[in-house]
Amino acid sequence: MIKGSCCCGSIKFELTSPPSMMGMCHCSRCRKLGASALVFTDKKSFHLLEGQEFIARYVPSAPYKHIRTFCKICGTALGEIGSENDSFPIPANCLDDEPRLAIQFHVFVGSKPSWYEICDNAQQFQESPEQH
Ligand SMILES: [Zn+2]
Ligand SMILES: [Zn+2]
Repeated sequence: MIKGSCCCGSIKFELTSPPSMMGMCHCSRCRKLGASALVFTDKKSFHLLEGQEFIARYVPSAPYKHIRTFCKICGTALGEIGSENDSFPIPANCLDDEPRLAIQFHVFVGSKPSWYEICDNAQQFQESPEQH
């Protein structure tokens, strides 16, 4: 069981099985949200325990299609909680327990600012197969 929460503690969730993978997204959107290190959870493993009323949704304009959620009170980015997809990303930042994964890939490396240096040997992609 891996617990997660927002900074102020209003939103709490748990993952009943460990995330399937972990990657770093260097796109400007994830960077601005402060949520570049992402883990992917199966929808059936994700359980919201508290704070549904504090979850705000940001629905982007086309061509972007992935919604983002965050805490209305403290602003913690919560990724795609509530997604209809079988698997969706949530920021590793909001986990309270170790996901026991390391960064396995970097996406949108072409958008990476020069101040961030990749210091691991994980696979790098200039973009992503999917518009994000
Ligand atoms: Zn909060
Ligand atoms: Zn991104």
